[in-house]
Amino acid sequence: MLNIGCHLSASKGFLNMAKEAVSINANTFQFFTRNPRGFKAKDIDEKDINKFLEYISDKNFAPIVAHAPYTLNACSADEKIRELAKVTMADDLRRMEYVPNNYYNFHPGSHVKQGVEVGTDYIVEMLNSILTPQQTTTVLLETMAGKGSEIGRSFNELKDILDRVELKEKMGVCLDTCHIWDGGYNIVDDLDRVVDEFDSIIGLDKLYAIHLNDSKNVMNSHKDRHETIGNGHIGLEALARVINHPQLRNLPFELETPNDLQGYAKEIEILRQLYNE
Ligand code: FE
Ligand code: FE
Ligand code: ZN
Repeated sequence: MLNIGCHLSASKGFLNMAKEAVSINANTFQFFTRNPRGFKAKDIDEKDINKFLEYISDKNFAPIVAHAPYTLNACSADEKIRELAKVTMADDLRRMEYVPNNYYNFHPGSHVKQGVEVGTDYIVEMLNSILTPQQTTTVLLETMAGKGSEIGRSFNELKDILDRVELKEKMGVCLDTCHIWDGGYNIVDDLDRVVDEFDSIIGLDKLYAIHLNDSKNVMNSHKDRHETIGNGHIGLEALARVINHPQLRNLPFELETPNDLQGYAKEIEILRQLYNE
């Protein structure tokens, strides 16, 4: 079965997200842990979480994906912003233990003129200071489009981070199809080669989730503008090959396309039809 879902608003809680997911034939979803453009988080609602866990228990859900706020920048030149990233992620990981054994995805960050090496040092330092042996959450680095000074624009940049994290078993990667296409990986004409390259540099055992998006831009544009499925430069045929790829097909796929709930429902229906059971 195809494990697919989409990004949902967390404002009405976990049970509501699960019900919305089920209503559009999804069996996973992604959500922001807090205000994506700020840092404010709601209080943990244990009643809601218990109802959620009960609700999904018989529904064949794949792991769900929490997404850190966009404003979190672990490799800022400003020490206060780095500290805020550390405190925020540590708090998010503490909260994630209320919904154990799921994924927490974040953008490695933008180094802004400090260079990739300095930025990488800061990201590694943060991860080594907040990951714990007890946590059940796997923390995922997202592949980035390479807009501005974003770190994570190549598989090698992510590998350089992963190599230096002490608790390696707590770390993985989330591959975003729009981002790697914009970053110069030709998943339209040469998906097998891209998957092989990921495997030889990072290792497919480190790939935990996929953000399934089309792109408004051409390959190697370094733009990061998502398009609805089938209406961008990646296209439906190439995305169908992604969900059916023997080494990707069992992962959870999360749509982050510009859509309302009905738009997501339609995309999920199309993709489920294109999945070879
Ligand atoms: Fe993201
Ligand atoms: Fe993404
Ligand atoms: Zn994006």
